[in-house]
Amino acid sequence: MQTLVHLVFPPRCLNCGGLVETDFGLCSGCWRDTQFISGLVCDSCGKPLPGQSDRVEHCDECLAIARPWAQGRAALVYADVGRRLVLGLKHGDRHDIARPAAQWMARVTRPILRPDTDTLLVPVPLHLHRHLSRRYNQSALLAQALSEQLDCDWCPDALRRQQATPSLDGKSRHERFETLAGRISVPSIRTRLLKDRPVLIVDDVMTTGATLAACTEACLAAGASEVCVSVLARVAQDA
Ligand SMILES: [Zn+2]
Ligand SMILES: [Zn+2]
Repeated sequence: MQTLVHLVFPPRCLNCGGLVETDFGLCSGCWRDTQFISGLVCDSCGKPLPGQSDRVEHCDECLAIARPWAQGRAALVYADVGRRLVLGLKHGDRHDIARPAAQWMARVTRPILRPDTDTLLVPVPLHLHRHLSRRYNQSALLAQALSEQLDCDWCPDALRRQQATPSLDGKSRHERFETLAGRISVPSIRTRLLKDRPVLIVDDVMTTGATLAACTEACLAAGASEVCVSVLARVAQDA
């Protein structure tokens, strides 16, 4: 059956559309242009760090800004193909990117999952108005696909934006944190779901971490026992 499907719809590279051997893959050229994160990383944000270390390490940015979450990981550097995949998922209706992206996220996230716990995956919420204009939440697509990979539960509406959040584009790091503080909360019908439970917050891209910080604070306020974060791509140059 799979062979028949491939005759009619041959698998295509996620990035360039060229023919590839298997479903949900990248061609060799695009694979080479994708910065998969491996080796030594910042324990808070997953950013790649030079060298090797036996200790837990943090990048300069995470040393400068205290992160409210315990640990974080990222699958890709937000550049080249990684950037295009994020934009395709966010703005291009490219839902097909979520599944392979979740496989890459699962690879880097498994080591920070607490074994034998009932971790709940929670996507970063879109604002309602943006949700209506965009019709889907790319972070929810990732959380759903990642929950299958990690064999965890997920909840699409455990977090919500309380009021219209002004666009963060062009704002300084401080302004971003100020803008987001307290704007994200756990609706009261969801607090029981999070209480005394580890939470993994899922997003497509981490820039300053302001959104993830606001989401973490909300989960901790709702009684989550611990919060970690997992993103598809990390902006690697210091903003
Ligand atoms: Zn390609
Ligand atoms: Zn970091």
